[in-house]
Amino acid sequence: MRLRPRSIRSRDTLIAAVLAALAFTAVAAGIDLAVRNAMRNDVLEETQRSARRVSAAVREGTLAGPVIPDDSEDAGGSDGRVQVQVVRRGRVVAATPGALGRPPFSRLWPSRDERIVDAIQCTGHGPGGDCTMLVVIRTTTAPDSAVVYAARPMPSLLVTGLLEVLLGVAVLSLSGLIAWVTWRVVGRTLRPVEEIRAQLAEISATDLSRRVPEPGGEDEIAQLARTANETLDRLERAVARQRQFASDASHELRTPIAGLRANLEDASMHPDDTDLEMAITSALRDTDRLESIVTDLLLLARIGTGGSAAHETIDLAELAASEIRRRPSCLRVRTRLTEGLTVRGVRMQLVRLLDNLLDNAERYADGAVEIEVCRAGPNARLTVTDDGPGIPPADRERVFERFTRLDSARSRSAGGTGLGLAIAREIAQAHSGSLVIEDHPKGARFALHLPLSP
Ligand code: ADP
Repeated sequence: MRLRPRSIRSRDTLIAAVLAALAFTAVAAGIDLAVRNAMRNDVLEETQRSARRVSAAVREGTLAGPVIPDDSEDAGGSDGRVQVQVVRRGRVVAATPGALGRPPFSRLWPSRDERIVDAIQCTGHGPGGDCTMLVVIRTTTAPDSAVVYAARPMPSLLVTGLLEVLLGVAVLSLSGLIAWVTWRVVGRTLRPVEEIRAQLAEISATDLSRRVPEPGGEDEIAQLARTANETLDRLERAVARQRQFASDASHELRTPIAGLRANLEDASMHPDDTDLEMAITSALRDTDRLESIVTDLLLLARIGTGGSAAHETIDLAELAASEIRRRPSCLRVRTRLTEGLTVRGVRMQLVRLLDNLLDNAERYADGAVEIEVCRAGPNARLTVTDDGPGIPPADRERVFERFTRLDSARSRSAGGTGLGLAIAREIAQAHSGSLVIEDHPKGARFALHLPLSP
């Protein structure tokens, strides 16, 4: 069975109630003790006073007839009065009117050394039983000395446990009050959280353009609401991007599929007029294109998902040199490579990044490409510069978006999927680096920065 309340509100209320009950119980126990002591002392003092007065009278021989109760002994009404008996040789020889004709109050017989004795004596049964404060005084040290018994009923508050009942009720009421206040305060504090939760539940079920209510101020709940809204902003943008990407990808895939279909339909409808070799070549071209788009899409989806297990230390200058060697080029390729600048990364991905930059540079260059590797603060810097038409500043971010082509006819015909730069930037970012287009007097300059390995 689960005993812990589920809601923060119930939990806080329970904790506050329990703590309050513990604290109030401790205070109530203290009060109980203090009140009991004070009342007991009062009763004892009053009883002693009467006993002493009568004892003095017996000693001085001035006691004659019934003992007159003290005037001051009427605090508790007739019940609260001190009854006194003077006992000599086991017989009551004088007493207050209420105690006459009754057997001695007690068998207590003080010794010569300790002439005054007090005790609480209970005769009844149960909590409501009769309890009396008894003070016994041996009037003299003589062997046949008279003994004065003074008895006063204990206040019912002490005997019946009424005091504890009252204190218990007070503890329960105060703890209940604290629990109620906590319930209200926590409820009020958490109300915005509940509103945020309800709104978030609705947003995730309906549309991402809605936002959670932001309470004013700078407290934790206001910050939570702001963070939730920022997350929703990012989520909305990501979903929009994803949608755009899916639609762009379908569009890109549709073109070669349509070509393939047209080709096949033509061949099946007019088998005799079809040049089989041409049809197959065209179909293969479309299939190649489909394949390269799908391969690029898969790569894009996988970048950054492999963790750091596949990372190795790579000398950027060596990597660039081996890639340049591998690619036969009819252009002038100038290199300025500083060796010894190592980065941590996935070799296959960094090769792919460099390939994409070199492909584009060769495609757009008029006659020369320059590759440079150097150090830039805590980073290794690799630039690929060509002397082609360059990229206008307004398009320098756009070209990194998926399927962006500034000159679609030219790049498509050259087999570009429109994903090359998007892949390159994703790889750079997955390696905690950056890829940007920098200003250059002629042509385009792509600059890659990767953190140097420690
Ligand atoms: P593509 O497969 O079309 O080459 P990319 O993502 O590699 O796709 O490039 C996107 C677009 O950026 C290209 O279509 C082209 O218009 C522009 N671009 C890329 N590199 C260069 C460059 N070196 N010079 C001029 N334009 C470039």
